[in-house]
Amino acid sequence: MIVTRELQELRQHRAAWSGTVGCVPTMGALHRGHQALMQAARSQCDRVVVTIFVNPTQFAPGEDFAAYPRTEEDDLRLCRESGVDLVWLPEVGQLYPPGSQTVVDVGRLGQQWEGASRPGHFQGVATVVTKLFLAVQPTHAYFGRKDRQQLEVIRVLVRDLLFPVEVVAVPTVREPGGLALSSRNRYLDSEQREQASRIYEALTEVDRLFAQGQRQVAALEQRFRAVLERIPGALVERFDVLAPDWSRAYAADEAPSRATVCVAVRWAGVRLLDEWELEEGASCY
Ligand code: AMP
Repeated sequence: MIVTRELQELRQHRAAWSGTVGCVPTMGALHRGHQALMQAARSQCDRVVVTIFVNPTQFAPGEDFAAYPRTEEDDLRLCRESGVDLVWLPEVGQLYPPGSQTVVDVGRLGQQWEGASRPGHFQGVATVVTKLFLAVQPTHAYFGRKDRQQLEVIRVLVRDLLFPVEVVAVPTVREPGGLALSSRNRYLDSEQREQASRIYEALTEVDRLFAQGQRQVAALEQRFRAVLERIPGALVERFDVLAPDWSRAYAADEAPSRATVCVAVRWAGVRLLDEWELEEGASCY
């Protein structure tokens, strides 16, 4: 496995490769969720590149950029075990040369829902992923459904900027209790993690209600919040029910037959994201 921090070295290796190249962009602190992305890339592509970069522009002031877990040795071990060909760990100055001014903004999608809670976040994501794509030149790129709106932002980015990249969505990998794996779960102790699995429980409750025919958004949200109330101190920051084409969120009195639910819950100082697909007659519960 090639490990490099240098853009030039990455480019030299890339230029020597023919065939398909799968890219897995990450911020490190890798876990089984990231591994699922690497495995998908490994099974579909001739070469697999993992990038590890804690991207400062997608953190707002006051967020956890400085504290974000950095576990390089373990990360490289997981990449090696997963059959990765090359890991690129650029320094900040390499992706943002001094004086950098250019940004990439996907417009309205980046400002709504999760984007409204984290102004500037998706611009930071779109900008860094554009740079990663230009450097790695992948034919395929792998993203998790856990960060559901991010996946949609990437799809729009690829469409709008004509990137010759196939975006592959990978299902959310969960802990045995249902909590979606996340690098930020490291901030929680084992008891807090167990409590946080209520987020999954709440989503399965919403799914059950939906499957029983109660499809009204207000009722679904009420059920979600009722389950989360069992974690004292947990705050439901977002419960968005999105149209399948992401053109809009459904209003409280609407009763869609298909939708994507995106939630954000703040618990023990950590902002936890999760997602769920609701589809009439297709309960995954
Ligand atoms: P991050 O390192 O958190 O920026 O995540 C890198 C990629 O891994 C993103 O595409 C995430 O959506 C994906 N990812 C993170 N957690 C999970 C998970 N539990 N299941 C599947 N994909 C995930």
